Amino acid sequence: MFKIIKNNKDLIESDFLSLDFSIGEGWIFLINDFFKDLKTLNLSENFKVKSIKEKYGDLIILTKNDNEEVKDLIQIYKKKASETCIECSKKGNLNISKNKTLTILCEECSKLN
Ligand SMILES: [Zn+2]
Repeated sequence: MFKIIKNNKDLIESDFLSLDFSIGEGWIFLINDFFKDLKTLNLSENFKVKSIKEKYGDLIILTKNDNEEVKDLIQIYKKKASETCIECSKKGNLNISKNKTLTILCEECSKLN
């Protein structure tokens, strides 16, 4: 089973995130890019990222007080995540792991998971 990173705020650089995330190591760079891109948007003062998770291979980002720009950005990152191995960041696809859960893995990692 791939390693899940939970609520380790040292890995994520953002003032927007409350401490609720659980994703594989391979997606950490995506989340950091996401927060960098967020900073370029016009955000409401009360904007918050409530939670970031992976579910059945899908990147789930829950926000509070967002807007259309934020929603569009989330869609872009969902797409990127759907092509990125959650374990090692290489190009990946939706796979069924041995414990029958759906997740995004590259060819190499899919042999190990
Ligand atoms: Zn991989």
